[in-house]
Amino acid sequence: MLVDGFGRNVTYLRVSVTERCNFRCQYCMPEKPFSWVPKENLLSFEELFLFVKVAIDEGITKIRITGGEPLLRTDLDKFIAMINNHKSGLDLALTTNGFLLKDAAQKLKNAGLQRVNISLDSLKPDVAGKMAQKDVLAKVQAGIEEALRVGLKVKINMVPIKGINDTEVLDVLEYAKERGMSIRFIEYMENTHAKEKLKGLSGQEVQTIIAQKYHFKEIGRVGPSPAHLFEFDDGYIFGIIDPHKHDFCEDCNRIRLTAEGMLIPCLYFDEAMSIKDAVHNGDVAKAAEVLKEVLRNKPEKNKWSDDDQNETSNRAFYETGG
Ligand code: SAM
Ligand code: SF4
Repeated sequence: MLVDGFGRNVTYLRVSVTERCNFRCQYCMPEKPFSWVPKENLLSFEELFLFVKVAIDEGITKIRITGGEPLLRTDLDKFIAMINNHKSGLDLALTTNGFLLKDAAQKLKNAGLQRVNISLDSLKPDVAGKMAQKDVLAKVQAGIEEALRVGLKVKINMVPIKGINDTEVLDVLEYAKERGMSIRFIEYMENTHAKEKLKGLSGQEVQTIIAQKYHFKEIGRVGPSPAHLFEFDDGYIFGIIDPHKHDFCEDCNRIRLTAEGMLIPCLYFDEAMSIKDAVHNGDVAKAAEVLKEVLRNKPEKNKWSDDDQNETSNRAFYETGG
């Protein structure tokens, strides 16, 4: 069991397999970063797997593969199969923008992937294109349909931004609901890598929009997941992730690994430790030591819990995987 310095049981590892992305979402990465991490600095799947194995053996039960855009990494399905074959019964999921999913979905499912979160910010080709700064919608929707067809459990993520896609909250919700997919509305989190002057809808504003058409009751948070859940009269459940109003620190169960091998105890906390040398040398004991040290350093609260709620983070979502 992995327990941090504040008695929290850490069971969830998010693994970013690349910081590169084929989109330029305005709220995440509007310009090409002028220095991509050179490919040789990325950990290989074998190296990532060495650490993932250690983490599983120590008590991690839930793993989410993310990025950047994780499907840009060739043979991602093989990495997923390595994890799945190491231990059955893990909760194994992927977060993707969906653009490359149509061709990958069946292989990912065969490899043992169970769930996929797909970002879908608009159902209008021009708006989706404006948000991602690329013509993306048709391929994303094809990816969603294929994921459903092969039997993956699909959840939609939407980040509503004022003046861009804020009029589509109900449309995207209904698109998800009609297809039996859950949806999470995520408050835009200000960061220095996003396009300037973006304003996100607050979770309360999202609720108000949905309440104009539907009756729902609040369920609240279930377990350590950050989403506040709400239930329609017909049983459909949607979620809102609203870090401006709530912090999720008290029962935070997660740590993050970047594609370069930095192990991050908290999204809004600068200290991180590298596992690169350990996995490069195949040193399992050292990897376990770094994991435990990072847990000891996991802060009690993130910066968003400070009084100044307008704090802007320097950490890039495309590096940490969100
Ligand atoms: N490229 C994949 C995707 O877009 O789903 C995975 C990585 S992306 C960083 C993971 C999640 O972070 C996405 O759902 C995205 O919408 C969300 N995200 C990125 N930047 C954000 C921001 N500034 N505020 C809130 N959510 C953000
Ligand atoms: Fe790429 Fe995902 Fe960031 Fe959009 S949110 S730029 S798809 S990493």
